[in-house]
Amino acid sequence: MDRGVADAARRWAWPFLVASACAILAAGFARGTPTLFFNLSYAWIIAWLLLLEAWLPFRASWRRPDGQILHDLGHTLLNKGLVQLLIITLAGRGVLEQRAPGLLATAPMALQVAVGLVASEFGLYWAHRLKHEWPALWRFHAVHHSVRKLWLVNTGRFHFVDSLLAVAASLPGLLLTGISMDAIIWVSAITAYIGILTHCNVDMRCGRLSLVFNTPNLHRWHHAIDASIGNSNYGENLVLWDRLLGTFHHRPGAEVETIGIREFMPAGFLGQLAAPFRWRRCQAEGVSTAGEGR
Ligand SMILES: [Zn+2]
Ligand SMILES: [Zn+2]
Repeated sequence: MDRGVADAARRWAWPFLVASACAILAAGFARGTPTLFFNLSYAWIIAWLLLLEAWLPFRASWRRPDGQILHDLGHTLLNKGLVQLLIITLAGRGVLEQRAPGLLATAPMALQVAVGLVASEFGLYWAHRLKHEWPALWRFHAVHHSVRKLWLVNTGRFHFVDSLLAVAASLPGLLLTGISMDAIIWVSAITAYIGILTHCNVDMRCGRLSLVFNTPNLHRWHHAIDASIGNSNYGENLVLWDRLLGTFHHRPGAEVETIGIREFMPAGFLGQLAAPFRWRRCQAEGVSTAGEGR
């Protein structure tokens, strides 16, 4: 493959995938079927990432199986299902409709989406930071960080309690802005697009985009096993609050070394679900089995 083509792909993959997925969603809004088109846009990104992970992996060793694929998918299905249940329950009780009808609901959509992203980001930033700095929450978040490689399949590997906390942290800010329901769908979709890109094992060169958005380059630092590096880049979509509050870690040209956690994490799915609730015993078992699983 021509080196120039590969370099162009590294440079343009991130903006191309976000912009094209947004274009697909916009077509869905125009046709009155945003949910269907959101699913199509998400499948579009997944298809590209499967191709790009094979062609331009960030780290070739991360292509090897880690024995966690079914567990990654299991956590993803469980937490997405429970989050949907929470949203449906809130909608059924009229909570989503009771938000203050703001002036913003009739503002240009791009402005509404920008305000929605910044507002939801504030809650997401603090929730994520607390999950790293408060040991009681870290036990849940450690399930996400226990992976030893990053690729698109472990994007949704979160303990379900961790996911419910993230929704609880972002929803109030989003609803208080008074933006329209269409804008909330846009914000949720962009969060999904940027989220799946942060974990991909593709050698993307995001350049100055990393000064505004949470990119794969930034998120890999966040997964560093060394907490003095990993306790950074808490932003979900934007790095605004990281930059303002001094937790931004960006070293262009440098690469993260080992990712993961120093604590023990059971190798089995049910063990991972139970681990946060029996953390001390779990760690004691980990010492006795001398690092098996992580
Ligand atoms: Zn984290
Ligand atoms: Zn992650």
